[in-house]
Amino acid sequence: MYCPECGAKVRRDEDICPECGADLWADETSGPTEQELLRMEAWVTKRKVQHRLLSLLGFLLGVMIFFGSILFAAQKLAGSDKVSKIYKKLGISTEEAGPEETVSVENAAGVVMEDQQAENTEARETSTAAAKAKSKKG
Ligand SMILES: [Zn+2]
Repeated sequence: MYCPECGAKVRRDEDICPECGADLWADETSGPTEQELLRMEAWVTKRKVQHRLLSLLGFLLGVMIFFGSILFAAQKLAGSDKVSKIYKKLGISTEEAGPEETVSVENAAGVVMEDQQAENTEARETSTAAAKAKSKKG
């Protein structure tokens, strides 16, 4: 706070201004001034807003983590038999989602295997062709 007489900065627990010797508690203006009160009010409002924003952010973060973990678990389970078992337990028909997915997974595996086989045969053919060319040359 400030001395009402000379404006010097004084400690709150001081009775008399160390600068001019004025009685700091003589009138009712002692204690927090109007400016100080306004500042305190603004600070409290600011803190409240910050608190609300922080709690909102925390809530959103929690929701995101929650759904993120669910999605992660679902992705991990996807394609495995566990999902269809859980669906069966829950009484949800898996006729649409379950078999289709397994079929697609099997198809994908088959395509990959075919690709690998094709690559292998190609490699073999090229190597044999190269060997033949070498033997012709040699
Ligand atoms: Zn003073």
